[in-house]
Amino acid sequence: MLRYVRVDTEAELLDALRKDGAQLLSGGTDLLVKMRSGLVRPKSLVDPAAVAELRGIETAGGALRIGTATPLSEILASKEVRERAPLLVDVLRVLGCVQIRNRGTLGGNLANASPAADSAIPLLLYEANLELAGGDGARNVPVGGFFLGPGRTVLQHGEYIRAVRIPASRQNWIPFFHKVGRRRALTIAIASIGGLAAVSQGRATEVRLAAGSVAPIPLRLKSAEEWLAGRALDRETIQHAGALAAGEVSPIDDVRATAAYRRAVTGDLVVRFLEGAAAA
Ligand SMILES: Cc1cc2nc3c(=O)[nH]c(=O)nc-3n(C[C@H](O)[C@H](O)[C@H](O)COP(=O)(O)OP(=O)(O)OC[C@H]3O[C@@H](n4cnc5c(N)ncnc54)[C@H](O)[C@@H]3O)c2cc1C
Repeated sequence: MLRYVRVDTEAELLDALRKDGAQLLSGGTDLLVKMRSGLVRPKSLVDPAAVAELRGIETAGGALRIGTATPLSEILASKEVRERAPLLVDVLRVLGCVQIRNRGTLGGNLANASPAADSAIPLLLYEANLELAGGDGARNVPVGGFFLGPGRTVLQHGEYIRAVRIPASRQNWIPFFHKVGRRRALTIAIASIGGLAAVSQGRATEVRLAAGSVAPIPLRLKSAEEWLAGRALDRETIQHAGALAAGEVSPIDDVRATAAYRRAVTGDLVVRFLEGAAAA
């Protein structure tokens, strides 16, 4: 028989997750779908919604700490998040629908480790850190080092993501996020590109680029970023950055799109972002 366990403290959470077949249940918007299709068969579902360390949004010295069991809709409504990490808000606005955002969490979106996990894109761009906790204590992992492959992360048995920490960042970033899907609303990305650009007098001081659904994990597009650093954002530079980005991804053919289409979209979206940043 499947057991539902609601815990009130981190000590209870650790204890409950140690048990054979225990699985953390946050919003359930990924997990219940997998359970229904028989992909996972937990013996108990451990609900951390009442654990204070996993809830809420705090700021300290310009940095943000978001508990991973905080519903996405709460993050979307937060003034602090809008001020300090506006791209995260832009992305959450198009993650699922109201009902999904009322239930879904950052913890679930990240731990589910889909290559299409939308929240991973702004978190990669803001160079967020994940606070992990488990039986052996707590550790910090950069979000860029968290994903190992589709459905696979560095989380050990009994370990969970307690919070996301977004460091203080530039105020003058030009943000970009675009997700290409098969329909306009409630869509899983065929490809998505996010970016942050700091531009001064037509020159890219710094550009960060991240892509989803075009590789086994959401990733930063480092060779395009390095090419752009310090360069004037002219037509040739932008086109070359698009080509570098397209060459950096390793998409697959699947039911939603071909690899060739995903690669082309990656390059095109990078070009679109940079053209906009150059004109801003
Ligand atoms: C109709 C629909 C539309 C969707 N649209 C999108 C979309 O546009 N973009 C997108 O990215 N996703 C989308 N999703 C997927 C899903 O809603 C999100 O990934 C959501 O953020 C998952 O969060 P959750 O709290 O519901 O996770 P859950 O389902 O509770 O958990 C998912 C997995 O993460 C684990 N887990 C949960 N919390 C933690 C934690 N704190 N630490 C460690 N492990 C944890 C669980 O054990 C489970 O394995 C959609 C889903 C549905 C059903």
